[in-house]
Parts: sequence; C-alpha cells; structure tokens
Amino acid sequence: MPRAPEAPPPTLPRGRAPAGTPLYVHLPFCAAKCHYCDFFSVAAEGHDRRPTVAALLAEAERWAPREPRTVFFGGGTPSLLESAELRALFDGLERVTGFRGAACEVTVECNPESLDEAKAATLLELGATRLSIGFQALDDAALKLFGRVHDAAQAFEAYRAARRAGAREINIDLIYAWPGQDLAAWRADLDRVLDLGPDHISAYNLTFEEDTAFRRWLEDGALSKPDEELELAFFEATRSRLAERGYGAYEVSNFALSGLHARHNVNYWQNGPYLGLGPSAVSKIGTARGGNVKSVGDYVRRIREQGDARVWEEAPDALARLRETWWLGLRLAEGLSAAEARARAGFDLPEDPLQPIAERLADDGLLERRGVRFALSPRGLPLADWVARKFLEG
Ligand code: SF4
Repeated sequence: MPRAPEAPPPTLPRGRAPAGTPLYVHLPFCAAKCHYCDFFSVAAEGHDRRPTVAALLAEAERWAPREPRTVFFGGGTPSLLESAELRALFDGLERVTGFRGAACEVTVECNPESLDEAKAATLLELGATRLSIGFQALDDAALKLFGRVHDAAQAFEAYRAARRAGAREINIDLIYAWPGQDLAAWRADLDRVLDLGPDHISAYNLTFEEDTAFRRWLEDGALSKPDEELELAFFEATRSRLAERGYGAYEVSNFALSGLHARHNVNYWQNGPYLGLGPSAVSKIGTARGGNVKSVGDYVRRIREQGDARVWEEAPDALARLRETWWLGLRLAEGLSAAEARARAGFDLPEDPLQPIAERLADDGLLERRGVRFALSPRGLPLADWVARKFLEG
C-alpha cells in the first residue's frame, strides 16, 4: 500500500488554536457516577468547583481559539454548576474568545436533576443556543439500574422548564437495548419522548465499556446483554419510529428535524479540528492531537504551575489519519468520497489506498455507491462498527 511522504511528526501548536476552531469545554462534575459511563467525571459532592472554573479560564487564555465556530460544554454535567459559577465561566470565555457573537451553535449538556427553569434561563442568557438533556430511559427501574439520580417525571419536567425558559433547540439523549428492556415498551417510550417535540434525539445502543460497573456486572454474570437479533430489532424500531415522526437519521445514532443536526458533533465525524479545555479534554489541531490529564486536582495544579495540562500528544501518520477519516465519515448518512477522505486527512497522494476496501464493501452490499460517494447501506447501518473496523485494520 503506498504511503504519503511524511515530514517530521508535528505536535500541537504552542499557542492559541486558529481562529474559528470549534471549542469543547469539559466540566467533570456529576451528581453521581452512572454505572455505564466511561467519560472522565467525578461525583461533585466535596469538590470545590471554583478552582476548576479558574483553571479553565487560565487554560483558555493560553490555548483557546478566538471566535470558535461552535462551542460544546460537556462532561460531566455542566448544568450542575451554580448559576454564579456558570456566569463566571461563560463571561470569562466570552472575554477570551468572543464566542457569543461568533459561534453558530453553543450546546450545554444538562441532566434533569440540575435543570430547572431558572438554570435554563441563565444558560440561555449566557449564550447557550442548544440544550442537550440526558433522559436515557423512561423506566424508573432502568434509571436506578443505570445509577441515574433522577426519575422519568423529572426528565419531562426539565424539558418543559427548558422550553418555558425559551430554549429553541433541545436534544434528548436516550439509551436502548438495556438488560431486560421490552421492545414494545421502548416504542411507547420513544413516542412519549417524541410527543414533547424535541429538535434532536441521540439514541445509542447500550455498550458495556471497560472500567464501568456495567462491564463488571456483565463479566460476573449479574447482567446479561440482549442477543444480537434483539439488539438489531431495537436499532431498526428506533430508526423507523423516528423516521415516521419526521426525524432524519443524519448519523448512525443521531436524528434531527430538518436542518437541526448537531454542528459541533458533525465536525468530529468529518474529522475536523477542535480545541478541548478541561480535565481529560482532547484537542486536534492540524495533524496532531493531544489530551489533558484525567484528574481534577492534577489538572488544576498543572494549569496553575505550567499553564498546560496536556499529558499526551501524538501525530498519526497520513495513512492512520486516512483510516480514521473513513471510519468516522461513514457514520454520517451523507457518507464520503475518496477525494474528501484524502482532503480531510491531509493525505497528499492522488490515489486513496483505502478506496478498494470501500469498493469491496459496496460489492458486498454493506456500502452504497452514490456517484463518487460511499455511504452505509440499510444492511451496513446496523453493522457500522464492524464496517468501520475494516478501514482501521484493512
Ligand atoms: S451524568 Fe453523564 S457524564 Fe455524568 S456519570 Fe452519568 S453518563 Fe457519565
């Protein structure tokens, strides 16, 4: 397989990211740790959050882009911060980046136990344009199993409070195919969520990630996964119900009313650049990427002492970047062409050495050819992860 000629591996730039770069801000505090979650987060109780907010602003001054195209406050549970803490953070980031006038989308992740009308109004006043609410399930027993600290009624109330406060774009996060879930009940739950009229739905098949309570319980036999056939039935029921109700599946697990897709996340799937702030946050600028330390205390200390909390950096070679670009890009319904893959990956040769893999998968019916583009076919969609691995390994 031909390889693009490589310059010495670049590292992340030692200064502010280029103007316009999408910005991610990681707030690592949660009310409690959910049993399926492998994001870096800590239970908020006992943590003084002010030093983290101060460190985030100091980190922003050193690295953050001016006028980011999109901003995403994730975590963790950003809505768990008090209004005064949110104000200090958002106003500080505005001074450093000018995001309010520049970003076309500012998303804040929220959980029902910490989102009331006053909190939603504060977030909107501070510049949020889009709230993403973690419902996850509508079955209170499942929510308990997940380790969530809210019930379904609180989730509905949080949604209504956000609308009363004036939120125009709302996403609802859901998880399906959890142990013991009934398919007919899931369809009914989806209908109840859709009756609210959210603009966007993220619906993921439950996964049992390393270092989570769910993974341990699976290995101990305390939990069991639904079989593959049932998982497929959940996947297809989700897609068809959402399609019937007018939600376009623009990504394997993400659905939106017309034009309301998550622009910040689309940039990830297009393998675009981004700058991450906060403990564990990852940045990708040019062909290099790196990540911050996964510890709140170490993060604050490193920022205070060195202004930098990055603990790893890498510069994948051109072929590795091309593999990732195919892997990510095929998750989008629009798919991608070999020329787009090369351009996004910064792969400098006229031929794409991975195109034969796409051709083979199209011959097998797992990808569709649309002119010069390739996209997952109806048969390939439920096998998206398997198809993606073909590009990572092939
Ligand atoms: S609230 Fe979200 S980030 Fe926090 S532990 Fe639960 S799933 Fe993870």
